[in-house]
Amino acid sequence: MNVNKKTIVDIDLKGKKVVMRVDFNVPLKDGIITDDTRIKAALPTINTIIEAGASLVLLSHLGRPKGEVKAEFSLKVTADYLAKLLNKDIAFASDCIGADVVKQANSLSAGDILVCENTRFHKEEDMKAKTDEDKALQLKFAEELSKLGNVYVNDAFGTAHRAHASTALIAKYVDTAVSGLLLEKEIKYLGNTVANPVKPFVAIIGGAKVSGKLQVLTSLMDKVDSILIGGGMAYTFLKAQGHEIGNSLVEDDLIDTAKSILEVAKEKGVNLMLPVDNVAADDFSNDAKIETVGNDIPKGYMALDVGPKTAELYAAQIANAKTVLWNGPMGCFEMSNFANATMTVCKAVADSDATSIIGGGDSVAAVNASGLADKMSHISTGGGASLEYLEGKDLPGVMALNDK
Ligand code: AMP
Repeated sequence: MNVNKKTIVDIDLKGKKVVMRVDFNVPLKDGIITDDTRIKAALPTINTIIEAGASLVLLSHLGRPKGEVKAEFSLKVTADYLAKLLNKDIAFASDCIGADVVKQANSLSAGDILVCENTRFHKEEDMKAKTDEDKALQLKFAEELSKLGNVYVNDAFGTAHRAHASTALIAKYVDTAVSGLLLEKEIKYLGNTVANPVKPFVAIIGGAKVSGKLQVLTSLMDKVDSILIGGGMAYTFLKAQGHEIGNSLVEDDLIDTAKSILEVAKEKGVNLMLPVDNVAADDFSNDAKIETVGNDIPKGYMALDVGPKTAELYAAQIANAKTVLWNGPMGCFEMSNFANATMTVCKAVADSDATSIIGGGDSVAAVNASGLADKMSHISTGGGASLEYLEGKDLPGVMALNDK
């Protein structure tokens, strides 16, 4: 999907009051942030805004408090963390709407930052508003949020697929609504690069189930030269081809769908590749008895990784690619005995000179585990959002922004 939205560099920020939606939905354990990737990913936009002479109010959600104030989901911890990262004082507001926070926002000077409390402490933020009354409540909440600034910036790609108050509806109540640098990068790679790929374009699609990737497979079919299938979803395809798959993961209700995907690929001249060998185990465990087998999985065994020959064949395709999109691991890479193909693919992507886009979710975890993350052109920060974008859906958080 090609979109052309204004970003923070297209507008004059000097003296402006910016209210920005970020994704500070970080994992916490015992009140400590265990992975700060999302906070660090927002830093380029935060720094650009304050260096340009604007003040900045940050909105985010954290966890799923379901419209209630719950101390364990307070964003105070992220405000303190940001203060350490930037080595400057960061103000915190105990709510994200109301007279007090508006007063705090108004009193900020250029370069000051205020982090507001969790937007999801209000049910209006993420309610599924079906009745007119609920819709009005949600819009009212969005209007209240808009009082925190005169320029709205969205840099929260992870929630851009949701039409929530702080991710999309707020844009109705400000004159200027633009994307941050992180959101812009996501749009550039997942949208524009995938919409107009330099060929050959190779998509590597893995993960647990066909059902989770069905729409991506369908929407990529018109754009790609090759699709390399791995992960649990491969075995529904192999069963559709008449193979024995033992106890491997399968979606029997999607056998016909798998057959039709294979047909469509043939009609469109897409080189859809399936495994030629597999690593089969007698139990879903790293300590299981393991055998490398062909495409008929022995009785009592389940395939937990695609085999070494398959991994090499896939690596050769990747080596020739100019654009690579990867979504979903080739096997149960969380267990070291079934991580080989995922790591081989990862290395092949890192070694290729293709524009490489890692499309969120578990493949991001695999790339991070490999230590090769800096060799990829783009690693998406949004699991669900990246999948929906790749499926060709409009993301409300992107569509709400001003066109260039
Ligand atoms: P997804 O969220 O659909 O991308 O699926 C990712 C999950 O698929 C990971 O947790 C993998 O462990 C799992 N997975 C990959 N290959 C297989 C397989 N052959 N059998 C079962 N699960 C798998």
